[in-house]
Amino acid sequence: MFDKIALIGLGLIGSSLCHVIRREGRAGKITGHARSAETRATALKIGLVDEIFEDAAAAVDGADLVILCVPVGAIGTVAEAISGNLKAGAIVTDVGSVKETVVRDISPHLPDGVHLVPGHPIAGTEHSGPESGFSELFENRWCILTPLPDGDEATTQKLEAFWIACGSNVERMEVAHHDLVLAITSHVPHLIAYNIVMTAKHLEDVTDSEVIKFSAAGFRDFTRIAASDPTMWRDVFLNNKHAVLEILGRFSEDLAALQRAVRWGDGDMLFDLFARSRAVRRGIVEAGQDTDAPDFGRRS
Ligand code: NAP
Repeated sequence: MFDKIALIGLGLIGSSLCHVIRREGRAGKITGHARSAETRATALKIGLVDEIFEDAAAAVDGADLVILCVPVGAIGTVAEAISGNLKAGAIVTDVGSVKETVVRDISPHLPDGVHLVPGHPIAGTEHSGPESGFSELFENRWCILTPLPDGDEATTQKLEAFWIACGSNVERMEVAHHDLVLAITSHVPHLIAYNIVMTAKHLEDVTDSEVIKFSAAGFRDFTRIAASDPTMWRDVFLNNKHAVLEILGRFSEDLAALQRAVRWGDGDMLFDLFARSRAVRRGIVEAGQDTDAPDFGRRS
């Protein structure tokens, strides 16, 4: 579908894209850039790319599709670095978890005749780095595209077809709406997970070894989310501040209501709320976004 695809950033998302692009034969050639010599050496060793470049601008030379797979806080600098070498008519997209600031940071650097179509695959794991990727990551997951109001329709359709070939379902959204939806479905849940893990760590009456030993009681599922990459998540919260604060405000109000129900022994309120949240879980399983296997499919 593309003669040459350039991937800037070869961590979990970048390397998964390399695997699926190869599996589906979507590029004549894949070039890549990563910041560290170590990642560049690994990318070549495991065959993620055909050619790797220390200089991001050299990696995008002649590319029809350029995919920016770096933390959102680094995207503006990367866009500036590649801007002088982008081919006329090239499509530039990204996979960043926040869209409004990413559009703000990329747009000024793109020359006329280069098409920006921001994107965000709703797929990931708590692992990072070039060896963490796998070709099935995007299978049956949603990819949100946030085309700009003055964007080229044919280009957006081409990128939609690309993500569908990668196994994703595609939905279009307006940038600000994307950031609000992701604040509730991803960003605030991560903040809650990071917070509860550290609350447990700071508890003086329960030892660290007890927290780990008895973690299967629920805590360990938060630790999986809280093991996610610190750079990526720092950048998410620095860049989606308003939507996260809006959702956190609502979360705090709801938590206060729960706290009150626990204090006053309001069993009806607790039961009703727990029953309704169980239905949400059922909906996620029915939509094929998780497995029905007990304990997320793990045996221990
Ligand atoms: P990752 O595994 O940590 O990989 C990040 C890549 O970006 C690495 O190749 C890293 O290079 C490079 N990089 C980091 N800082 C850089 C900088 N300042 N300049 C140039 N390159 C830099 O991260 P990831 O999980 O693939 O995430 C990449 C993007 O995908 C982020 O924008 C994230 O928001 C988005 N995303 C992540 C997930 C998820 O669950 N992980 C899901 C959807 C979208 P080195 O290896 O050389 O350090």
